[in-house]
Amino acid sequence: MHPYGLFSPEMYKFDTPQPSYWEAMGTSASITGASLRGDESCDVAIIGGGYTGLTAALHLARDYDVDVRVLEAGHLGWGASGRNAGFCCIGGTGLDVQTQIKRYGLEDTQSWYRIQMDAVNLVKQLGDEEAIDLQIQGDCELEVAYSANSFNELKDEVLVQRDVLGLDSKLLSAEEVRERFFDSTEQYGAAQIRPTFALNPLSYVQGLAESAERHGAKLHGHSEIVEWRKEGSEHILVTAKGRLRAKRVIIATNGFAPEHLYKELAGRPLPVISAMIVTRPLTAAELNEYNWKSKDPMISSRILLNYFRLLPDNRFLFGGRGHSKGDAAGAMKTYGQIREKLNKLWPAWKDVDIDYRWHGLICYTRDRRPAIGQVDGDRSVFYGFGFHGNGVNTATWTGKQLADWVGMASSNDDHVPIKLPAVVKGLPGRFPLAGLRRRYLQGALTWYRLMDWLH
Ligand SMILES: Cc1cc2nc3c(=O)[nH]c(=O)nc-3n(C[C@H](O)[C@H](O)[C@H](O)COP(=O)(O)OP(=O)(O)OC[C@H]3O[C@@H](n4cnc5c(N)ncnc54)[C@H](O)[C@@H]3O)c2cc1C
Repeated sequence: MHPYGLFSPEMYKFDTPQPSYWEAMGTSASITGASLRGDESCDVAIIGGGYTGLTAALHLARDYDVDVRVLEAGHLGWGASGRNAGFCCIGGTGLDVQTQIKRYGLEDTQSWYRIQMDAVNLVKQLGDEEAIDLQIQGDCELEVAYSANSFNELKDEVLVQRDVLGLDSKLLSAEEVRERFFDSTEQYGAAQIRPTFALNPLSYVQGLAESAERHGAKLHGHSEIVEWRKEGSEHILVTAKGRLRAKRVIIATNGFAPEHLYKELAGRPLPVISAMIVTRPLTAAELNEYNWKSKDPMISSRILLNYFRLLPDNRFLFGGRGHSKGDAAGAMKTYGQIREKLNKLWPAWKDVDIDYRWHGLICYTRDRRPAIGQVDGDRSVFYGFGFHGNGVNTATWTGKQLADWVGMASSNDDHVPIKLPAVVKGLPGRFPLAGLRRRYLQGALTWYRLMDWLH
């Protein structure tokens, strides 16, 4: 059995980049991330070279002068960070606001939403401070109602977002959306949230890598950890060609979690496939067909949402969730379903060629919230995962929290120098019979599809 377990081994071909639009565009970053060789040591080792791991490395090196190394199984940014849709928006939990308030209290829920908005700004700030080529597009996000019923629900959602959570959220009628943004067969008005935007995810993650390295972090791509053990108080992380000895470890692997390496992690993440397709550049006439005027990121208000945006060269990116094993046949089926959905929403584009299709793993948890913390039984191990499909800002912010925690705690790992809202604090529960997680997911997706259809 493949060590990563739940999905097909094809989801973990670390040496093969996804055939994504972003990979095809390339980036200006010049980072190589030579693989780990021989015996090395450091203060802090980070497992995973995506937004979480690289932001943590950048801040540890830059702000705390810590001797830090990142071990990444693929190229830097190989995971979800280099292949997502680039929405820098809020939404890092899978729970509705009322449930969060009931479970975690009003104050901590409000604090969590303020943090998510701050996290959007943090991405921009890092881009400015480190001269990262973010390729920002748009200045708001639209959540588009797919039915008259869902528009009525959005009205209430906007009131809660504005009056309870303090977000800059506004309701737009179907006419306003048609006039100023776009139209489709499922456009019944929208909620508009600011300040949110879209970016080039691969350029962002590789820019983070370049900055982290510039500030002194040592980054190793193509360095999958295949064994993790402890000798005394030190961690030994073993790769095919090297061994890294570290005083502390940060787990930053989100949906690609190596559960087989560390028992505290096992059974807690729920990786879910997210997939997208990108068309050839659309002509002005094709865009006019739907009065398309916007380059803002947009999602549908379905539980099983679709996400979409017009790219800088007028290609159309359209994505959604898939429930296959992640093998080649399952992936093609998912891309086919996404294409069908695109055709249904914008029938005039049904013959437009698809130039790129790819997928990756996002991460849910049993508590349906992100998890940030320090392992109870071993205070030298820290983690941040479970971003529920929303990691551009949430993982960036998480990486910074982990860096502040580890950097400020210095040699005293029992000292917790940062304050996290209860929503994100600590490990989520394990799934019962965790080997069945993909089956649970299939059941949930079928249920959500039914709920969406009933609306
Ligand atoms: C198709 C898709 C679309 C998405 N769209 C959006 C979006 O528009 N907006 C948004 O906010 N979020 C989006 N997300 C989610 C977002 O990309 C993730 O939440 C975020 O990138 C997580 O960052 P991370 O650094 O925690 O994990 P990742 O970027 O997934 O990195 C984890 C890394 O850990 C490495 N790893 C695993 N095991 C080992 C090991 N044994 N040794 C060494 N390295 C290891 C993996 O190779 C991987 O690169 C999307 C995700 C996908 C897949």
